[in-house]
Amino acid sequence: MKIISLLEDRPMTAKEICQALEADTSREKEVYDALKKASRVLKRKGKSLMMSPPVCRKCGFVFDKANPTRCPRCKSEWIDPARFSVMD
Ligand SMILES: [Zn+2]
Repeated sequence: MKIISLLEDRPMTAKEICQALEADTSREKEVYDALKKASRVLKRKGKSLMMSPPVCRKCGFVFDKANPTRCPRCKSEWIDPARFSVMD
């Protein structure tokens, strides 16, 4: 999977993965689906997909899901996106 070799290279956000795959950013949702699949593939290889969670840039709230749209605490939409990487 191309997405895996990208992430083995360096941590990336879903948007960066879109750009690297030359996919439109409106296809970001497909990237999240592909990441779920990549996570299963990696597990079989004894590796794991790591996610540094999204953080609200306004109040510092740490999200527990990969793709939030707004902060539940301060309602800000200014969010530092999740970064994905591969761990051996
Ligand atoms: Zn917030």
